[in-house]
Amino acid sequence: MSDGIARRGLLLVLSSPSGGGKTSIGRALRVTDPNLGLSVSLTTRPPREGETDGKDYHFVDEAAFLAAVREGRLIEHAEVFGARYGTPRAPVEAALAEGRDLLFDIDWQGTRQLREALPEDVVSVFILPPSMAELERRLRARRLDDDATVTRRMSRAAAEIAHWDEYGYVIVNRDFDLSVGAVRSILAAERLKRSRQTGLAHFVAGLLA
Ligand code: 5GP
Repeated sequence: MSDGIARRGLLLVLSSPSGGGKTSIGRALRVTDPNLGLSVSLTTRPPREGETDGKDYHFVDEAAFLAAVREGRLIEHAEVFGARYGTPRAPVEAALAEGRDLLFDIDWQGTRQLREALPEDVVSVFILPPSMAELERRLRARRLDDDATVTRRMSRAAAEIAHWDEYGYVIVNRDFDLSVGAVRSILAAERLKRSRQTGLAHFVAGLLA
């Protein structure tokens, strides 16, 4: 870090139903925050237009995914919309140890597993839509999905929202800029936690020497 005090990284999880804003909010955070990396998941779903392998996801087939699970290379995994998704373990452990923070766009099932694996390191934020009508409007406006998929995502949205109370922070995404600011504040405060500033004892010893 810029102040030279050694620190442990944190794992910032943003969850919301599809269209809830987590992807755009995450992107905005990362533009201004060089210490916030992105956890790139494995998925068996096919790439959408504009998605790049290795950047948005590691796109793999069923066999490769199952091999990753079997070999313990995923720190969490779940099935969402009939496809498999999972988080590679090695980048998570490296980031924590090197004092870098990682952003996760994963669902409630993944958040639960990640918290079980690394309870002290997860900072979880749930992003709620202001209304279900607005959520549907946003899903249609982004034009990524056909009608049937939008209908399916709306029915899954309620199931995702039902897990809001498993998250440490909750934001109602009425205004994009305000929501980004709120997540930035959470991140700033969590970074200052004494337990994450692992080099403080050394720093203070220097102060008092
Ligand atoms: P999409 O296919 O729209 O990119 O993602 C569908 C859902 O899967 C989203 O709710 C997203 O947060 C979730 N997801 C993406 N990657 C992972 C992952 O590695 N693990 C889990 N548990 N969920 C994921």
